[in-house]
Amino acid sequence: MIIVLKPTATEEQKEKILSKLKSYGFKIHLSEGVERTIIGAIGDERTLGDRPLVSFEGVEKVVPILKPYKVVSRDFRKDDALIQVGSAKFGAGYLSVIAGPCSVENEEMIFNVAERLKKAGVKVMRGGAFKPRTSPYAFQGLGVEGLKYLKKAADTYNLMVVTELMDPRDIDMFIEYSDIIQIGARNMQNFRLLSEVGKLRKPVILKRGLCSTIKEFLMAAEYIANEGNYNIILCERGIRSFDTETRNVLDLSAIPVIKANSYLPVIVDPSHGTGRKDCVGSMALAAVAAGADGVMIEVHPKPEEALSDGDQSINLDEFDKILSKIKNIAKIMDKSIED
Ligand code: PEP
Ligand code: MN
Repeated sequence: MIIVLKPTATEEQKEKILSKLKSYGFKIHLSEGVERTIIGAIGDERTLGDRPLVSFEGVEKVVPILKPYKVVSRDFRKDDALIQVGSAKFGAGYLSVIAGPCSVENEEMIFNVAERLKKAGVKVMRGGAFKPRTSPYAFQGLGVEGLKYLKKAADTYNLMVVTELMDPRDIDMFIEYSDIIQIGARNMQNFRLLSEVGKLRKPVILKRGLCSTIKEFLMAAEYIANEGNYNIILCERGIRSFDTETRNVLDLSAIPVIKANSYLPVIVDPSHGTGRKDCVGSMALAAVAAGADGVMIEVHPKPEEALSDGDQSINLDEFDKILSKIKNIAKIMDKSIED
């Protein structure tokens, strides 16, 4: 349930309500706005019995949250969340572009990419070091060595780093080498992993599962938020369908649907979403036009030589062209892409 406090509620009245809720075993999520405080209380409301919270001093109203996801729902927070990573901003009128290779392949290559991205004005670089490959015989990423190259290149060019975490045992490494932790599509419902990143305060990019509904996607985000980490950026990356022309079907309608139901920023990955480099530009632009708060694009200095996802990676010159068009569409959408 949501407990909305009166604008005049005192600190003492708030504390009294909070301690009451805690004594009944509720998990508390506080949203302290300029105007008023909203308390999200998650727990078994039957424990309250006939002791209504509205009778507490300082309480304006008590509203049940009817959605299965609670902390990430618009019921809990009306305005869009702004998630800031370094100088990159996602949501609440801001849009950021993330780019980088599918996998970090060697030090020279990631430095080359970082230099070009910096020149283009990109603030966040992606790159996989622990790769979720379908085949155990495919390139699995460079592991910790890849994380170190990624961080070194990012630091050299003052970029933020996003990279995929697959195993909670690697969390300490990711705290050290990344600025945003990515939970990939294949792990969207790895609930233990979600809870573990929920205990951190580092921003998380949560990618939609290959066959997940929007409700399941938001429930996965709820696992993270329920542990107290609200720094979640949702990423639409295509869902499986019957057509084999594209790798996945990019669900751009997910953007307005999610935004109607949640305050979290939504970004789009047109690279995995289509699996085709000739579709990446148009789908990136369409995503921004549909209201996305960012896009994440796979780039490679030589896509034809990529160790993973070469078919969907664009080269750095192509990226520059797409980026300037993204900036134009962002302007039309009243989204600020500069800091
Ligand atoms: C990725 O972004 O590197 C990736 C593997 O994407 P997804 O989890 O969406 O397949
Ligand atoms: Mn990839």
